Amino acid sequence: MAQELFECPICCEECALVMKAPCDHEFCGTCVSRTFNEVNEKCPLCRAILPELIDEYVVTTRLNFENFNVEQIQEIFPFVCRGGNIADVTQCVEQFGIDVNQPDSVYGMIPLVTSSDKGHFPIVEFLVQKDADVNHAEANDGKTPLVASSANGHFSIVEFLVQNGADVNQTLNNGSGSFPLFISSQNGHFSIVECLVENSAAVNQARIDGTTPLFISSQNGHFPIVEFLIQNEADVNQAANNGGTPLYISCQKGYSSIVEILVQNGADVNQAVNDRGIPLYISSQKGYFSIVEILVQNGADVNQADDDGDTPLMTSIHYGHEDVVELLRQHGAE
Ligand SMILES: [Zn+2]
Ligand SMILES: [Zn+2]
Repeated sequence: MAQELFECPICCEECALVMKAPCDHEFCGTCVSRTFNEVNEKCPLCRAILPELIDEYVVTTRLNFENFNVEQIQEIFPFVCRGGNIADVTQCVEQFGIDVNQPDSVYGMIPLVTSSDKGHFPIVEFLVQKDADVNHAEANDGKTPLVASSANGHFSIVEFLVQNGADVNQTLNNGSGSFPLFISSQNGHFSIVECLVENSAAVNQARIDGTTPLFISSQNGHFPIVEFLIQNEADVNQAANNGGTPLYISCQKGYSSIVEILVQNGADVNQAVNDRGIPLYISSQKGYFSIVEILVQNGADVNQADDDGDTPLMTSIHYGHEDVVELLRQHGAE
C-alpha cells in the first residue's frame, strides 16, 4: 500500500525514515543522525534542544513500494522491522529480496536486533526463518538480539532465540562487558533469568567492573532472582573490583529479605569493602534495624572499625539511630 511521502524540512528530500523529536517536529533519519555528534543541537523549526539518543525519537517508516528502489528499501529495512508491521517486513523480503542481515549505513542497526528490542515476535520469527543470524551483534556496542530482548523483558523472543542457537554468554563490547543474564537480573525479568540459566548461562560470569548477576539483583532488590541464582550455584561471596559483595550492597540498600537469604547461604558477614568497612557498618549508619539484627545474630564483629577507625556503634550514634545503638551495645559493642 502506498503511503504519503515525507519531505524533510532540513534537506528537502523525500524520505522513508521519519524521526519525530519530542517537540513534535519530524525530520529524516540522515539529518537527525548528523545532530547526534553535536551537544545542544536545536530543532531548526522551534529551537527546542534535540535529544542525542535515537530512542527518544518516535521513528516511523513511510514505505512507498511503487517509488522506492531496492537500495532504498534495504537501507530502511532495520527500521521497518523496528516499527513492527509484519506485512511490510514480509513484502520487503519476498517481493524485493531484501537481505535480512544487512545493517543500515547510518546507525548500523540490525533488523533482528531492532525487532527483538521492540518485542515484535512475529517479525523475529520471520527473520530467523529467512536465515537471520541470531548472534549478529551491532558494530558500535555489540548489542545482540538476545541482549535486546533480555533487557526489555521479551520472554517469548528470548526463548525463541535460545532455541535457535543464540549464544547466551555473548558480552557487549561497549566497555561494560555486560551480558544477557546480567541485564535481565538487573531489570528484574525473572522468567528470562530462569530461561537463560536453564540454557547454560554462566551464573558467576562478571562484567568488567567485577559485578555479577547476583550482585546486581541484590542491589536492585529482586528477591526471586537472588533466590533462584543462589539455588543455581551463584557464589554469594564473589566481590566486584571495588570489593563490594552482594551482602554489602543489599545492606546498603536496606533489602532485609535479601540480606537474610544471603547470610543463610554462607555470605561472609565480616567481608569488608575496600575502605568502606563491613556490612554491619553501612547498615548501622543507615539505621536498618532488622538488617543489623540479622548480622549480629550471625556473627558480625560489632567492634570492627573501617579504615578511618569508625565503628558501627560510632556511626549509629552519629546518625541518631537509637534502636540500633541499643542493639549493638546488647551484642557487646563498646
Ligand atoms: Zn533530511
Ligand atoms: Zn521542533
